[in-house]
Amino acid sequence: MWDDWIADAAATREGAGLTRTLKPRGPDDGVIDLAGNDYLGLSGHPDVRRAAAEAAMLWGGGAGASRLVTGTLTLHGDLEEELADWLGQPGALTFSTGYHANLSIVSALADRTAHVVSDAHIHASLIDAVRLSRAQLTVVPHNDVAAVRAALAAQPGVRTLVLAESVYSVLGDEAPLTELAEVCAEHGALLVVDEAHGVGVHGPGLVHRRGLAGRPDVLVTATLSKSLGSQGGAVLGPRSVLDHLVNTARPFIFDTGLAPAATAAALAAAQIARSHPHLADIIRFRVIGLARTLGVPAPAGAVLSVPMPSPEGAVAAQAALLTEGVRVGCFRPPSVPDGVSRLRVTAGASVTDEEWDRAAKVIETIVGEVR
Ligand code: PMP
Repeated sequence: MWDDWIADAAATREGAGLTRTLKPRGPDDGVIDLAGNDYLGLSGHPDVRRAAAEAAMLWGGGAGASRLVTGTLTLHGDLEEELADWLGQPGALTFSTGYHANLSIVSALADRTAHVVSDAHIHASLIDAVRLSRAQLTVVPHNDVAAVRAALAAQPGVRTLVLAESVYSVLGDEAPLTELAEVCAEHGALLVVDEAHGVGVHGPGLVHRRGLAGRPDVLVTATLSKSLGSQGGAVLGPRSVLDHLVNTARPFIFDTGLAPAATAAALAAAQIARSHPHLADIIRFRVIGLARTLGVPAPAGAVLSVPMPSPEGAVAAQAALLTEGVRVGCFRPPSVPDGVSRLRVTAGASVTDEEWDRAAKVIETIVGEVR
């Protein structure tokens, strides 16, 4: 019975051209990597590597337990303080992934009696978080503030969370944070902003840049695995909310604490990102230039989204680029919220100017041929 069911699912995927496979890479395969999320190039920074190695030597390979048992290290506190200070928030709590941070905040604050209003392009981790919470869900069209207002007005007096990303992971555009915060304040809703693609690329993040940091009704989640070149996640906001998570968020309580090497790497990376803001300028300048060349909308952060005519066309372009020594991301259904397959190009700061110029020319040629 199981064999047939799995084989049927594989055949359906294959028929739709949607089979995915894991493609291992070596530590340095000579390919220009424009597919990753190591936006500031900090993963390989000597200070980040050293901090990770030293923390592993001092603390060991893992935190050893969940945070409420013996898995809370003073090192976690150091990172949480640094993140809160950088992002202008009263406090921070770290998690073993950004995925866990999102699962935790939504499932701890929303239950069957709550309402969640979510942008249609929200990340899978937030969608799963709403499922875990069992809250009633209203999905609104992408970046549609009027639809958010209508959803809030339709259920006055109900505890409501509004979910948005500061920079969207697939489309690469930006949320209207100021307007969303205003609408939430009018209706007594909490705004949860996933800054996975905002922190680092926009210094302390777009919540901070829009003057919303520290507001008790605007909570932030972040990942340590993109601009901070490590692994892990964080929730930032009032201490009362963080204490609530420590006491009630199952993905936090029943998960082992963030590994020492990841914690120390993220701490070192945050310190470098804070003191080297030009790293973010380099990558944003690059992707905006390439967007202009390709005739696609300018990205709000480090993610350039290039729509392709079909899943097959997207895969073919990705393969052709790899043959030319350039690795880009390829998103197809079901990973794309609007069903449009696309290449995803990111310009990590570890890529040299010469490499970027060469890659941009190859992308222009191959994308032109496929489109
Ligand atoms: N939120 C967004 C918007 C993301 O893009 C990602 C990572 N793809 C996550 C959350 C999850 O973060 P992590 O990889 O640290 O689990």
